[in-house]
Amino acid sequence: MGIMDVLKGAFGGGEKKTLASKEFKCPNCGAKVTLDMERCYECGVRIKSMFRKKCPKCKALNELDAKICVECKYDFESEIRAAKKTQYRCPRCGYKMDVYMMQCPVCGVRFG
Ligand SMILES: [Zn+2]
Ligand SMILES: [Zn+2]
Ligand SMILES: [Zn+2]
Repeated sequence: MGIMDVLKGAFGGGEKKTLASKEFKCPNCGAKVTLDMERCYECGVRIKSMFRKKCPKCKALNELDAKICVECKYDFESEIRAAKKTQYRCPRCGYKMDVYMMQCPVCGVRFG
């Protein structure tokens, strides 16, 4: 296995799973559910109300798809924007990297 296989593994390969299509276990009955389902097909529990995200600022629990915190109005999207900023893109082939590298692993162009 070459360096490209290692990189593919590290970056998750071509697997494109969004949060919505990811499978979770229903916290109530254990059935396999996805976040784009409104309710669990087994027990009927509201899925989105079972999975919450915690506000990093005030620790309030928000709906998973909430844009701003219900308590302190913290902008969750600003976090996503900041995270996106740390991704580097090869100026030649556009390959996205999570960490800064001296050389593009895809087209081999050197940065710096
Ligand atoms: Zn259930
Ligand atoms: Zn908050
Ligand atoms: Zn490149």
